Amino acid sequence: MSDKTLAIVAPCYNEQEMLPTSIPVLLQTLDTLINAEKVSPASRLYFVDDGSRDNTWQQLADASKAHPGRIVAIRLSRNKGHQNALLAGLASTSEDMVVSIDADLQDDPVNIEKMVDAYHNGSEVVYGVRAARDTDTKFKRLTAEGYYHVMKKLGVDLVFNHADFRLMSRRALNALLEYPESQLFLRGMVREVGFASSVVEYDRQSRAAGESKYPLRKMLSLAWHGISSFSTAPLRAITLLGITASALSLITLLWVLATRLLTDNAIPGWTSILLPLLFIGSVQLLSLGVIGEYLAKLYTEIKKRPRYHISERLSNQADEH
Ligand code: UDP
Ligand code: MG
Repeated sequence: MSDKTLAIVAPCYNEQEMLPTSIPVLLQTLDTLINAEKVSPASRLYFVDDGSRDNTWQQLADASKAHPGRIVAIRLSRNKGHQNALLAGLASTSEDMVVSIDADLQDDPVNIEKMVDAYHNGSEVVYGVRAARDTDTKFKRLTAEGYYHVMKKLGVDLVFNHADFRLMSRRALNALLEYPESQLFLRGMVREVGFASSVVEYDRQSRAAGESKYPLRKMLSLAWHGISSFSTAPLRAITLLGITASALSLITLLWVLATRLLTDNAIPGWTSILLPLLFIGSVQLLSLGVIGEYLAKLYTEIKKRPRYHISERLSNQADEH
């Protein structure tokens, strides 16, 4: 029988349609693991309410009361986004292993058992990897694929098709919690942490209730944080672009001068002026933009603001308040 405790952490933002299913399913998942003696009976669920505007908090508070000592409900002071909410949950745990999962259960909790098995076999990080992406739209699939390839080219070591469904040992999690950055890209940070790892493959379901809380805007923002937190290649790319543009301008300049001095051809004028003008102008603007992005990032990081504030925590355990 294993005396290792497990925490399952799920961030929730406006999940009132999903929670009546997710809570019992995750409790059942815990029970199965406890009965199979793979985790200790002291294992718990952690739900983080990420500043929801619907009934999410009430449902979590009720569930925590209904299952004393089994469900920890954490409420953030306002909506801080999926990555921050997840980190708030992870940082609140004290268990020996921690599984992070979305509250909509698109990542089937049945796979947690395989993750726990891998933990018992010595893995400190177990990545959930989607075998197929057929529940995604074609657009999401193509952009995701392209993104992983770009990241790879930039030298960022991501696990292909892994989002935030993973198990971490206490040791790996404590290492992750030492990372002070305020703009999180957890799937990249976990790779930085290292330790023995393995992969569990699964098929992702489509959302059973409620709608996606990740509109394109948030997805693009996460994608850019992933790049700018882990790579300075865009800065180098604009230097190269600058060098290329300068070389081209120099050639144009020589050609213009030669035409002016050595031939009688009247220079038609606007083509030779306008082309380099537009080209260099756009390269400069683009470069300034990229530099600005990194500067903005520095500005945000240097403030070292707290990533979230917890406004309530309920666990309904005899020894806690
Ligand atoms: N989520 C959150 N805060 C947010 C947005 C999302 O805590 O600001 C949670 C959400 O409740 C869910 C998980 O993050 O548990 C993933 O979100 P969602 O399922 O909407 O994303 P998708 O699967 O569509 O990428
Ligand atoms: Mg989802």
